[in-house]
Amino acid sequence: MSATLVSPRTFVSETPTWCPGCGDFGVLRALQNAAAKLGLQPHEICIVSGIGCSGKINSYFNAYGLHTLHGRSLPVAQGVKLANPNLTVIASGGDGDGYGIGAGHFMHAVRRNVDMTYIVMDNQVYGLTKGQTSPTSPTGFESHTTPHGSAEGPVRPLRVALANGCSWVAQGFSADMKQLVDLIIQAIQHKGFSLLNVQSPCVTWRETIVEDGQKVGVYEWWKKHLHKLDEDPGYNPTDRGMAFSKLLEYDDIVSGLIYAEDRPSYREYLKGYTDRPMADMAEILDTPTLEDLVGQFK
Ligand code: SF4
Ligand code: MG
Repeated sequence: MSATLVSPRTFVSETPTWCPGCGDFGVLRALQNAAAKLGLQPHEICIVSGIGCSGKINSYFNAYGLHTLHGRSLPVAQGVKLANPNLTVIASGGDGDGYGIGAGHFMHAVRRNVDMTYIVMDNQVYGLTKGQTSPTSPTGFESHTTPHGSAEGPVRPLRVALANGCSWVAQGFSADMKQLVDLIIQAIQHKGFSLLNVQSPCVTWRETIVEDGQKVGVYEWWKKHLHKLDEDPGYNPTDRGMAFSKLLEYDDIVSGLIYAEDRPSYREYLKGYTDRPMADMAEILDTPTLEDLVGQFK
């Protein structure tokens, strides 16, 4: 396929059915902008998503896509990347999908360091299934599943990622387009596993806590409270200890690049691993070889 000029519109597909004002619109637009700025073609990208409102993003982005099972985007995405290292592989989903149902996969993907990007649209609620308390819901969050307020503290995905050796960690905000596009570009260019957690407000279900007269977790609240690390003089995103300190200091309410480390990706550890996509390896996929392989399992 010959290369053609791309623009954000190149990656526009179906019209999203998200609620008007949903933060996921910002993530989709940022991803389309980032892909265009990187000069990628639709056939060079594969978006693998889980289940949830945010999991529909690959239907709205013009590229290869796989809509997988709940919480299973990461194992599938890693398989896609290992089978075809030439693809830019992006796994995506929400906080319930990634940090609840798929939590086990999350920490292992982090330490495995396959060269791919994981974008989590974190709205602290199960949106698609009508507003249940999610793994990142704050203490006190009221919903059908916690009518008296959640008694549990939230999962801290940024800290989990740092603790398990994630080689690139950042947090964006769906209403800060400039920063989000920049973070997605960095995440894709990073050679290893990149976690980009995006604060992506749910405008339908996420407003049960009021603090100082203001609803927590809505756009205005994030705008007011997010501490931008990229405007923090002296912040060093190659210092893991400093990254932990800032997360503790600001209760994870930060945005920007949190941590980046240059270390070999999973592929670089594997002896004899080839960059050639499996689909191009005619010598192992020719009919007699395949028949022989299949025959061994009869
Ligand atoms: Fe977005 Fe919430 Fe609507 Fe789902 S329910 S589309 S997360 S605003
Ligand atoms: Mg959610």
